[in-house]
Amino acid sequence: MKTPRVRVAPSPTGDPHVGTAYMSLFNLGFARRHGGQFVLRIEDTDRARFRADSEQQIFDMLRWLDLQWDEGPEVGGPYAPYRQSERLDTYRPFVDQLLADGHAYHCWCSSERLAEMREKQRAEKLPTGYDRLCVGKTAEERQALGGATDTPVVRMLIPDDPPLTFTDVIRGEVSAPRPDDQVILKADGFPTYHLAVVVDDHLMGITHVVRGEEWISSTPKHVLLYRWLGLDEPAFAHMPLLRNTDKSKISKRKNPAARLTWFREQGYLPEALLNFLALLGYGQPGESEIFPFAEFSASFEWSRVNTVGPVFDLKKLDWLNGHYIRALSVDEFADRVVEFVAREREIAADAVALLRAGAPLVQERTDTLAQGAAMLSFLVAGDDEFAVDEAAAAKQLAPDQQPTVTTALAALEALPAWSAAAIEQALRDSLVEGLGLKPKFAFGPVRVAITGSTVSPPLFESMEILGRERSLARLRAAITAG
Ligand code: GLU
Repeated sequence: MKTPRVRVAPSPTGDPHVGTAYMSLFNLGFARRHGGQFVLRIEDTDRARFRADSEQQIFDMLRWLDLQWDEGPEVGGPYAPYRQSERLDTYRPFVDQLLADGHAYHCWCSSERLAEMREKQRAEKLPTGYDRLCVGKTAEERQALGGATDTPVVRMLIPDDPPLTFTDVIRGEVSAPRPDDQVILKADGFPTYHLAVVVDDHLMGITHVVRGEEWISSTPKHVLLYRWLGLDEPAFAHMPLLRNTDKSKISKRKNPAARLTWFREQGYLPEALLNFLALLGYGQPGESEIFPFAEFSASFEWSRVNTVGPVFDLKKLDWLNGHYIRALSVDEFADRVVEFVAREREIAADAVALLRAGAPLVQERTDTLAQGAAMLSFLVAGDDEFAVDEAAAAKQLAPDQQPTVTTALAALEALPAWSAAAIEQALRDSLVEGLGLKPKFAFGPVRVAITGSTVSPPLFESMEILGRERSLARLRAAITAG
C-alpha cells in the first residue's frame, strides 16, 4: 500500500457538523497508523451556502480536538492553496479537455425551464433527469428554442453504460444508481463539488478518499471523471452516517449535538469526544471503552469499521467525559474549568484564583465542565449577581429556619480563624449541639445562603474559599431576605 495521503474536505456552510470531526478522526487515525499525511481542504465552491465565519470555526474546532492537519489552510503545504475558491484557474483546463473529448457539453437551460421539465416528468411518471435538450446545439440554435440563459453551465454526458459499481475499502463491492448529466461547471465560473473534488484529490496526491456514506451515489460520476481525464483513481472508503436514537440522520436542524461547538459549550473534553467518536461504528480491539486517540490510531484497521449507522448515545459520552475529567491532574482540571468559564465571559484575576481553588471540590462529582462551572458559580458571582435559587430559598430559608441562619452567623462572626475545620467546628457546636438540630437540617439553610443552591460542593471548604467577609455577608443577606 502507498503511504496514505488522506483529506477531510468540509464545506464552510454554517456551524461545523459533528460529522466533520468524525471524518477527520478516521482520516487522521489511518494516516497516523501508516505514517501518512492528513490534508484539510476547504470546499467553498457553493457560494449560495457559503458562510464567512464558518471556515474559522472549522479550524478552531479541529484544533480544539487536536485533529491537526499536516497540510491545508493556515499551515500551507506543497499543493497550496487548499481553498477551492482560490483554485478556480486550476479547474478550467480539465473542463476544456472534457468538452473537447465530447464527455461534457454546454447547457443553457434556465432554471424555470428545468423546473417545468421536472414537473412534466413527474406528472408523466417518467424518470427525472436532464432531458438533454442542449446536447449537440450551438448557442444560437439553443437560444432559438427559448427557456435559455446567456451563460451556459457545463454538464457531464453520462454514457449509456456508466460504471455503477466500485470497490469500497470498508464495504467491498458497492453499487450506486445511474447518475444524471451532472453539472460540473456553473454559470458563475465555479466548478461544482464533483469536478473540484476529483481534480483536487488527483492534484493533491490523495490515495484514499474517506468520506460519509451519503457520497456513495456520487462515486460513479467521480469514477467516470477519473477515467475520462486519464487519472489514477484513489481508493474509496465510505464511513457510516451517524444516527439519532430514532435512526434518522443527525442533522443540525433536529439535534443540537450535530453542531460540533455544542460539545464544547456543554463542557465535554475534546479527548472524551474523540474517544466517543472512535467507538462509533468501530470495533475497538480491547474490552475497554476507554479508547484514547493514541490507541485508536495505533490499532487502526478498516476491517473494524461497521457499516451499520452508529447511534449517538450521549449517556455514553457523559460517562466517558466523567472518566476523562477524573483522570486529569487537579491543576489540569482547574485549567480546563477556567478556560471553559473564560470562553463564556470575561473573568478577573481574583475570580480565576477562586475557580482554581474551588475546582478540586467538584472534580470528583461532575461529568462535564459545565456542571463543574455551575457548581462553582457562587464563588465567582459578583455581589450584585449572586442570587439564591427561589425554590432552594423556599425550602431552606423559610421563617422557621431563620434562627438557624442567625445562630450560624453569630457563631461564625466570633470565629478567630477562617478555615474549613474551624467553620465546621463552629457550626456543629452552635447548630447541632446548641440548637439540637440534625446535621441535615443544620447545614441546609447555611448551604443555600452561601451557595444559592441545595446542591453544592462541600460546604465548609466552599466557605473557606469564599472567604470570611463574603460568607458572612451572604448569611446576613439571607436573614434580611427571610
Ligand atoms: N465537501 C464535501 C462535504 O462537505 C466533501 C465530501 C468528500 O469528502 O468528498 O462533505
